[in-house]
Amino acid sequence: MSSLDDLPPLRDVIRTHGLDARKGLGQHFLLDLNLTGRIARLAGDLSQCDVLEVGPGPGGLTRGLLAAGARRVVAVEKDSRCLAALEEIRAASDGRLEIVEGDALTFDDVGTLAPGARVVANLPYNVGTPLLFQWLDRLDNFASLTLMFQREVAERIVASPGDKAYGRLAVMCGWAADCHIVMDLPARAFTPPPKVASAVVNLIPRSTKRGAADPEILSKVVAAAFNQRRKMLRQSLKSMGGDPIAALAAAGIDPTRRAETLQIEEFAALARVYEASAA
Ligand code: SAM
Repeated sequence: MSSLDDLPPLRDVIRTHGLDARKGLGQHFLLDLNLTGRIARLAGDLSQCDVLEVGPGPGGLTRGLLAAGARRVVAVEKDSRCLAALEEIRAASDGRLEIVEGDALTFDDVGTLAPGARVVANLPYNVGTPLLFQWLDRLDNFASLTLMFQREVAERIVASPGDKAYGRLAVMCGWAADCHIVMDLPARAFTPPPKVASAVVNLIPRSTKRGAADPEILSKVVAAAFNQRRKMLRQSLKSMGGDPIAALAAAGIDPTRRAETLQIEEFAALARVYEASAA
């Protein structure tokens, strides 16, 4: 039986299977197995958990995850051209790799993965943020998310109040998880190189959120507040209905402040006020 070490170099895999990169699928491949091994190790101990990988492509990161000792990898790939290449990895994986052909946006991971799974992915740019929001909605199922994004998106995930990049993504991610950029990658690390640099973000779900709040109401408040980010909150929160000045007062927030100055806990306090007023 072949082993992972016997698999051909990824450049050969791409040539053999005709995997010319398709822009519409966000295909920028990592062909350096040292690099994919490093990314896999950033996800922590994989030996006791299921791993969900979105978009394995020719399988560079998949090989890294298996080489790092992942107990079980479920890899969801939309591009059927990649399946034969992935099958070669599966055959060398001692039964640890499952390949799912499909769209990760509609894949029901909850039913497939054991609780405490880790998500590790070099995400396609066009679906990275929608996927992240889906995972945030069921974060209790995961021990960690280790995700490659465009550097600019990574900055929006880890941003703090006052940062230019601080907005809805930072609040919703930071409310539920501890988020850090753990690796930077230049465009030249990918084949073909994208126009921009990338970064890997680690999101570790928090055992207690940064302030009790209903996630849907929090999301609405945050969206309303940042929809007009240069405006004072007494103006931007008008779209929530009711009296924004009273709501802000009840949450102990000066109505002349702007969304970009609010701590995550203050957004949570506002969400509680709106929830109470709707009851
Ligand atoms: N993991 C590989 C690597 O690191 O070299 C490929 C990463 S590439 C940036 C993104 C991959 O996601 C491609 O293989 C692409 O076909 C796949 N993909 C794009 N949209 C997808 C979707 N909606 N569901 C699942 N896979 C998708």
